[in-house]
Amino acid sequence: MKLDLKIQPLSSWITAKKQPLLIAGPCSAETEEQLVATAHLLAKTGRVTALRAGIWKPRTRPGEFEGIGSIGLEWLKRAKAETGLPTAVEVATGKHVEEALKAGVDIFWVGARSTVNPFTVQEIADALKGVDIPVMVKNPVNPDLSLWIGALERINNAGITKLAAIHRGFSSFEKTAFRNEPMWDLAINLKTHAPDLPIINDPSHISGNRELIPYVSQKALDLDMQGLMIESHIDPSVAWTDAKQQLTPAALDDLVGRLTLRQPETASSEVKDKLAELRNQIDKLDDLVIQKLAERMQIVEKIGQYKKDNGITILQVNRWDEILQKRTQYGKALKLEADFTEKLLELIHSESIRKQTEIMNQSQAPVQEKLTHA
Ligand code: PEP
Ligand code: MN
Repeated sequence: MKLDLKIQPLSSWITAKKQPLLIAGPCSAETEEQLVATAHLLAKTGRVTALRAGIWKPRTRPGEFEGIGSIGLEWLKRAKAETGLPTAVEVATGKHVEEALKAGVDIFWVGARSTVNPFTVQEIADALKGVDIPVMVKNPVNPDLSLWIGALERINNAGITKLAAIHRGFSSFEKTAFRNEPMWDLAINLKTHAPDLPIINDPSHISGNRELIPYVSQKALDLDMQGLMIESHIDPSVAWTDAKQQLTPAALDDLVGRLTLRQPETASSEVKDKLAELRNQIDKLDDLVIQKLAERMQIVEKIGQYKKDNGITILQVNRWDEILQKRTQYGKALKLEADFTEKLLELIHSESIRKQTEIMNQSQAPVQEKLTHA
């Protein structure tokens, strides 16, 4: 399903100083000196297109630093005047929108904790009616593509066409190496729903630590995301928020300089031919996979009917364990990641169970009552 968004191309509202497009700045504006000095160092790298800073901070727990507030807008004005960098802030209420507009902020973003709440997003959208300003919408905290799309639609319906999404990862129950699980599939899914919508990656909030940022940034560029938003602080060790994930401007310069830029398309006909040949092979194999899955499901249906006729339960845990173990071992021998094989089997298994449940619950064809006439 293609979304009906009216979007202007990214180039109509932001021009990358250098590739990749980079929005950088501290998690929070803390003091005038910290913000202005960071902005100068970022501008000096020649890589940064816009300066970000949180003025109002949505904090999980009360009592943590909740942002410096409106005074920070004055500091942003000064940073912009001295460096020429356009500015970006998070807005979470209608009042934030009003104040940030008055202060001449160039780009707004909606934070992950706001995107989850349609009331909040609608309030921001209402305050944006009749205003021509770029807005970037972060994904919601939870992995819910509809919420992300809904927020983009609300902002777009308010007349904002300079629109982008920011992929900042998702909160998950399982603790992994990431602060927020990237769940790249969700961002790719958004791209297929809205191919014209630019997606900017936020490796800082996905990673939660400095070490993972290069890996996440490279992956985002390889997935053809249009830019990066990275937190940078003049001295991360004393940052008031997100200290572990912020980079000095020099470290940011170094990191971005090491990223490899690849092109989504190529002009070389030799490369195109080779790619087409390999894709052709993949298409044939995919067709085979689908065909085999369909054959598997036909057998599943037979088994379902057989179990039903013989009063046997759908699930036999031992049998499922055996499939999982044997196939994962086999996959390993063929150089497939165990995790991949397991996920694939689980998907196939749950569809098999669904099919068998359907069969079990089908009512018998109505038995024709024999009418005996006396
Ligand atoms: C931020 O950008 O500093 C921020 C609060 O991010 P998120 O909304 O992604 O948590
Ligand atoms: Mn932050």
